[in-house]
Amino acid sequence: MKISVGHGLADAEKRLEERGVSRRDFMKFCGIIAATMGMGPAYATEVAAALTADNRPSVIWLHNAECTGCSESILRMASIDGKTAYIDTLILDVISLEYQETIMAAAGEMAEKALHDAMKKPYLLVVEGGIPMKDNGIYGKVGGVTMVEMVKKAITSKNCLATIAYGTCAAYGGVQAAKPNPTDAKGVKAVFPKSLVINVPGCPPNPYNLVGTVVAAIMTVTKKAPLPALDGDLRPTVFFGQTVHDQCERQPFFEKEQFAMSFDSPEAKKGWCLYKLGCKGPSTYNNCPTKKFNPLDKGVGVNWPVQAGHPCIGCSEPNFWDKMSPFYEMEK
Ligand code: SF4
Ligand code: SF4
Repeated sequence: MKISVGHGLADAEKRLEERGVSRRDFMKFCGIIAATMGMGPAYATEVAAALTADNRPSVIWLHNAECTGCSESILRMASIDGKTAYIDTLILDVISLEYQETIMAAAGEMAEKALHDAMKKPYLLVVEGGIPMKDNGIYGKVGGVTMVEMVKKAITSKNCLATIAYGTCAAYGGVQAAKPNPTDAKGVKAVFPKSLVINVPGCPPNPYNLVGTVVAAIMTVTKKAPLPALDGDLRPTVFFGQTVHDQCERQPFFEKEQFAMSFDSPEAKKGWCLYKLGCKGPSTYNNCPTKKFNPLDKGVGVNWPVQAGHPCIGCSEPNFWDKMSPFYEMEK
């Protein structure tokens, strides 16, 4: 396959090869992202071009009130072929991450300078974690600055092209916003209603949904492509357009009203529906059954919670900690 995208692709390939990622694997990765975006194999070339375009924006990633599980969902990903563990390298390299507190070596003033420098040119902002708002945000600070002030500075800069709220905490407040929400934690859009925010929720989210959203945002910036279509909760419909239930392999059992009544029952092991054990798949929008998690085999993960025998708890829905609990009881 011949790709013509200036020096970006050659540079990216060289960088990745130094880290043990071959060109073939990079294109395979781009094919997986294309498939996640609902496109055919030919679209891999477009994805490669977007991820290596000379004028692509960098990514600044800020942490707020959270468990860092969303970052971990990327860092703990296994490889494309199940043998080598480089997919985190691939993702973190190709999205041109300029600032990320969890993984960068810099600390203290060096880190602050890195953020200051990264904000001098156009960037996509990724926010992980809810924003504590009570008492002027004093319950969440980094380097003496409140999280709300940090996000405000980054999201209102003229260089911020768009913001991706990654994970349910950043999208809707998450666990710290669950009742009684002692710090008045909120999602990014609730705090900055005028900003362009795309939500990629999940607890944790699927990292391929993040990369697909970054690719779509880069295409919007570099090729004036339209922004991805969003649902009423600001989620890209290409990833969150269908319920978990509508894509679930246990659905034929639901239709026949064959419900497992305990986790250790032979019926649960035979794949019967987990609805009566509390599954919230019918009211949850996400692509877990089709994209799955863990090492990839032919572009799809090897497993997902319901396949492994655990009900969906609705983690990509707003306020799911309150709305979907008790998790092991049927929805009322
Ligand atoms: S296990 Fe959950 S998502 Fe799957 S069919 Fe049953 S209710 Fe639907
Ligand atoms: S199956 Fe449900 S709870 Fe589990 S990750 Fe997917 S949306 Fe979240």
